[in-house]
Amino acid sequence: MRLPKFEYFEPKEIKEAVGILQDQPSARILAGGTDLLVNMKHRVESPPVIVNIKRIQGLDFIRGENGDVRIGALTTLKRIYTDPMIMEKLPGLAGSASSVGSYHHQVMGTLAGNICQQNRCKYFNQSRMWRSAKPLCFKAGGEICHVVNKKGICYSSYCGDLAPVLLVMNAKIVLIGKAGPREISMENLFSGNGKAPLNLITGEMLKEIIIPSESVKGVCCYEKLANRESIDFPILGTAFWVSVQNREYRVAFTAVDQKPLRGQRIESFLSGNDLTEEILDQACDLADKVAKPVKTSIYSPSYKRKMMGRQFRSAVDKTIGRSIS
Ligand SMILES: Cc1cc2nc3c(=O)[nH]c(=O)nc-3n(C[C@H](O)[C@H](O)[C@H](O)COP(=O)(O)OP(=O)(O)OC[C@H]3O[C@@H](n4cnc5c(N)ncnc54)[C@H](O)[C@@H]3O)c2cc1C
Repeated sequence: MRLPKFEYFEPKEIKEAVGILQDQPSARILAGGTDLLVNMKHRVESPPVIVNIKRIQGLDFIRGENGDVRIGALTTLKRIYTDPMIMEKLPGLAGSASSVGSYHHQVMGTLAGNICQQNRCKYFNQSRMWRSAKPLCFKAGGEICHVVNKKGICYSSYCGDLAPVLLVMNAKIVLIGKAGPREISMENLFSGNGKAPLNLITGEMLKEIIIPSESVKGVCCYEKLANRESIDFPILGTAFWVSVQNREYRVAFTAVDQKPLRGQRIESFLSGNDLTEEILDQACDLADKVAKPVKTSIYSPSYKRKMMGRQFRSAVDKTIGRSIS
């Protein structure tokens, strides 16, 4: 499959990249390309301008700073899960990075590309020939969302593996645009609109993420359910974070909504409690009420909801096991 035609830029500095993105509002950033280029080949995305940011120095780093952990946008997934500090302090993040796609995706794929990846749907992520059997879906430029048969709305799912882990660690995102850098919470990066999943201002790009020291002190695990063990997006992913001392718990899910979803109802229910069998059973029952998945893949919403409770329980067990050892 060939790529469509596009104008190509290779800036060497962030300022230059931001300038191009600002002047060309329909331009798209290219990092590892493992998401964008596939979508372009399928003609579900055809940006007229591509800005390859891989030549920009200083965006590939992992460093500790006053207890916080900072990771640059262009840091590859492989670097994340093989870094000794991440392996020791943030095994949940390492686990989610090593669960992405195949080894090739991990070597090429970057932190920012993973977080900012396009939403997915069985009517969208298909070849042009497959899609020609139906009118274009709303996300691909048509009028109707075939998932719910409604106009002007898109129910595609966010399926990134790293976002739920970063959500439970209350990560902050540093964006850089024409007006300089700004910091937002991971939660505020996602719009919940399947057609345009990110809250980015024109010209902005993700520069780095900051995981605050209080989250680094807790323990986190990520559980993933996928069709195949390798090369597959999550059918469902659950991240769980715990501060045993403070009896504070955080949970987030991926692949169940238009954005990665924090399980606030579960968190408030668990907060301040010991994780007894009885409490956990009740929390598992709450898990399947956190999201209302729709049929964006071959898996039924009821199957996903059932699995949310089970996967939540298995993420809790893994995290508690890790925090004791
Ligand atoms: C077969 C297959 C299997 C996959 N399996 C998984 C999986 O299991 N889990 C998973 O999470 N992903 C999966 N992916 C998706 C993808 O490989 C990964 O998410 C990867 O980490 C994307 O990173 P990238 O650098 O290649 O992104 P790119 O393709 O370069 O970019 C992805 C998106 O992010 C935007 N972007 C990139 N950098 C920035 C930035 N600095 N600021 C703002 N926007 C930016 C781009 O414009 C683009 O829209 C899979 C892909 C394929 C083809």
